[in-house]
Formats: sequence, structure tokens, C-alpha cells
Amino acid sequence: MSNCLFCKIVDKEIDSDIVYEDEHVIAFNDTNPQAPLHILIIPRKHIATINDIDVADTILLGNLFLAARNIAQQLGVDKNGYRVVMNCNRDAGQTVFHLHLHFLAGRPLHWPPG
Ligand code: AMP
Ligand code: ZN
Repeated sequence: MSNCLFCKIVDKEIDSDIVYEDEHVIAFNDTNPQAPLHILIIPRKHIATINDIDVADTILLGNLFLAARNIAQQLGVDKNGYRVVMNCNRDAGQTVFHLHLHFLAGRPLHWPPG
């Protein structure tokens, strides 16, 4: 998608603070962090929202969670804990329409979220 901000980050057309990348996913620091650690984990493939996921993307989605697990270990927050969140459309506050898993850690995270 030529006009997608996160596709441009994947293609390195726009700079980002990358903390993890592999064949399937890329992860970078959120520019407006909501916790001491706030990382966005995204598939290299453009998928706009959860509503647009296809059964063929099943393994790709698993890779987002494997990346979250790896990042948590890498940053040493796996034992204390962390939260992953994916917003879908208006009521959830989605603003970038390229699938992304928010990885939040480094402070106690309240529940329910706002
Ligand atoms: P969402 O509201 O779930 O769509 O989340 C989009 C997230 O992308 C927000 O937390 C923004 O702070 C973050 N964001 C927007 N532009 C950038 C960027 N260029 N680099 C890193 N994070 C960004
Ligand atoms: Zn995209």
C-alpha cells in the first residue's frame, strides 16, 4: 500500500526506532508511548484491520505473538509481565490502518482499559 505509514516504515522509506525484525514482522518504538516500553509489532504484509484477516494469515498472526514473546524476553519483562493490544476501527481508537500489536510494559497496567 503506497500511502500506508507503516508500509513505509517496513520499506524503510520512513525512519523508525526498530527494536526487532525478522522475515515476517517488524517492531519499533511507538512515538507516543503510553508506558515505559511501548512497541508496535506489525506484519510486513499490509492488512488494514482485524476485519481484513484471511485464514491464510493464520501463521502470520502467530508470528506477531512469537515476536511479542521474544521482545519480552529480550527486554527482561517476561516475568513481571506485559500487555499486547490490537485496536480495530473507530470505537477502539484505531488510527493507523495497518495491523499492529501494541506491546506495553514497564509499569503496572490497569484493567479495564479506558
Ligand atoms: P492505533 O491507535 O491502535 O491505530 O495505534 C497507532 C499507534 O501508532 C499510536 O500509538 C501512535 O502513537 C503510533 N504511531 C503513529 N505514527 C508513528 C510513527 N511514525 N512511528 C511510530 N509510531 C507511530
Ligand atoms: Zn500498510
